[in-house]
Amino acid sequence: MTKKSDQTRIVQAGIGMDPSTGAVAPPLHTSSTFIWPDCETKGQFDYGRTKNPTRELLTNSLVELENGKGGEIVNSGMAAIDLCLNLLNAEDLIIAPHDCYGGSHRLFTHRALQNRIRVEFVDQGDENALQAAMALGPKMVFIETPSNPLMRIVDIQMIAAMAREVGALSVCDNTFLSPVRQKPLDLGCDIVVHSNTKYINGHSDVVGGCIIANTAELAERLRWWANCAGLTGGPFDAWLTIRGMRTLPARMDIQEDNARVMAAFLTSHDQVDRVYYPGLANHPQAQIIRRQQSGPGAMLSFEIKGELSTTKDFLCHLELFSLAASLGGTESLICQPAIMTHAGMAPEARRKAGIKDNLIRISVGMEKINDLISDLETAFERLE
Ligand SMILES: *Cc1c(COP(=O)(O)O)cnc(C)c1O
Repeated sequence: MTKKSDQTRIVQAGIGMDPSTGAVAPPLHTSSTFIWPDCETKGQFDYGRTKNPTRELLTNSLVELENGKGGEIVNSGMAAIDLCLNLLNAEDLIIAPHDCYGGSHRLFTHRALQNRIRVEFVDQGDENALQAAMALGPKMVFIETPSNPLMRIVDIQMIAAMAREVGALSVCDNTFLSPVRQKPLDLGCDIVVHSNTKYINGHSDVVGGCIIANTAELAERLRWWANCAGLTGGPFDAWLTIRGMRTLPARMDIQEDNARVMAAFLTSHDQVDRVYYPGLANHPQAQIIRRQQSGPGAMLSFEIKGELSTTKDFLCHLELFSLAASLGGTESLICQPAIMTHAGMAPEARRKAGIKDNLIRISVGMEKINDLISDLETAFERLE
């Protein structure tokens, strides 16, 4: 049979896998420990922290989707990123994006303060800055694209090749697009990490993460650390995530269609200054987007005409968008990065990163698009 599509693989993952019952849906195994066939022989499973059948099913499905060789499910996206740092020795250098996810920025910064690693934050869209950083002899290069909240795109293939050349491992945070829109291992990365909390589970009811590696050896090293440090995810979370993931391709299709329409609406609105969305033809990295993404995804942001107070008023007038951080669920979420997701950044750092007070970020959900647009329209009208 020819290679199956992502959609088929996701829908079929673990279906009819339990011959003891013939259950169509995969069972939830909660047992913390498993019986040994005899004193000398371990079974396939022996202790839940090390390996659990439900978690293993989710791991294998995600490894298949990312075209990896092995991986592990952990307790959160941050646990996945911290797990990668176990591959580094004290004072090894990691190169990270200057505009990476706030939690990652905090983790790298504080691990460096403990002398566990060294970190250099770089604008990876600036090739000269990138070259200079590579000359410092990094052991790991961390990539995140599209960036949050401005949807900047960097060239994964180019950065992964540069990392390989200097003997560094490349790690890509693929949370914003999910494996149905971008496959970093195919583009040369060594490791992919996800916050499963976002698109992969997709229903805003699990916090989880995963790592997937491009070789069995690397995957085993990561799994060894996940077991050693006790980072592996719980079975019920894995079971919910398998259930949520079934509809990932369908959700992404609908949410992306909605985001396209919303981006076009916002672009043409006279109360909007600027729209950031990878699906717009005038996106500064449109060429890279065409090469490395199979679609623009469903995250966008825009600058409303006005100040912080106008922005707050606008958000208050909305009825269909929940005011919340996070993203990737079926429901539309809206936030004001300057005082919510990026409030921890100093105002000067925010200014440098281009995050203005009038910036609004939307995780576009699966609601009927006409309802979302008319809600936005009403909120704009009420500002006048
Ligand atoms: C949410 C997020 C994380 C962290 O994931 P958690 O599951 O919240 O720990 C990491 N990277 C990106 C891009 C995210 O959006």
